[in-house]
Amino acid sequence: MPRREDPEQEEPYRTLRQLWTGTTTMRECRHFELIHPVTPSSADVCADCVALGDSWPHLRICLTCGYVGCCDMAKNHHVRTHCELTGHPLIQSYEPGEDWLWCYKDEAVLAPPPALRGGLRR
Ligand SMILES: [Zn+2]
Ligand SMILES: [Zn+2]
Ligand SMILES: [Zn+2]
Repeated sequence: MPRREDPEQEEPYRTLRQLWTGTTTMRECRHFELIHPVTPSSADVCADCVALGDSWPHLRICLTCGYVGCCDMAKNHHVRTHCELTGHPLIQSYEPGEDWLWCYKDEAVLAPPPALRGGLRR
């Protein structure tokens, strides 16, 4: 069998990556079954911050229910709070041009599966 030149074979998207370094570990994220086709709860704002009159640096989206909120660096870190309250572990960057995933349970970055390449905000 000739070896296929397939990046998915080289590095399965479920493989955990150490933050921002690209280094992978042998372990896989086991939470991918919690990803559903979602409708973003907001087009381009953290609605919870808007309600509070606060601002945020970056947006993230919950891949289980579509909740859009502010990132961990934000004062209110609404997405992290959402994930702690609901148990939804997987989020994706909701910034234009970014499509990396983060698993709160594994505390690791993941490559996007094919359906989520390019991100949900286009
Ligand atoms: Zn995981
Ligand atoms: Zn917020
Ligand atoms: Zn959620």
